[in-house]
Amino acid sequence: MSEDLFEKIIDREIPADIVFENDELLAFRDINPQAPVHVLIIPKRKIRTLNDLDEDDAGLVGRMVLAAKEIAASEGIAEDGYRLNLNCNERAGQSVWHIHLHLLGGRKMDWPPG
Ligand code: AMP
Repeated sequence: MSEDLFEKIIDREIPADIVFENDELLAFRDINPQAPVHVLIIPKRKIRTLNDLDEDDAGLVGRMVLAAKEIAASEGIAEDGYRLNLNCNERAGQSVWHIHLHLLGGRKMDWPPG
């Protein structure tokens, strides 16, 4: 039985609208989108929070960003602009304990964020 919500999506125990997958990563549409395009890019290997990353994960995190760039292009938002967001722990809004990169676009983004 999968341990966290995103592991259940990786293991196809619960459905998701998957937009990208390879051996290392999975990307799917957020169930509660905060923008017209809202995709989550996750590693298949469980990492609870950004605080659990180490030097060996540098390539993985880089490839998450590159996957987001490719998805932004395929979603047609690369030129208008998009935002990548990583939340770490409750105060920053993390609610699922498996790191995930938010790709948000398709509307004007406020800065600074709330
Ligand atoms: P965070 O608050 O940064 O931990 O982001 C967790 C995200 O996961 C939120 O934006 C949720 O809307 C999203 N989410 C929760 N459950 C699902 C699900 N079953 N499928 C897709 N996205 C989900």
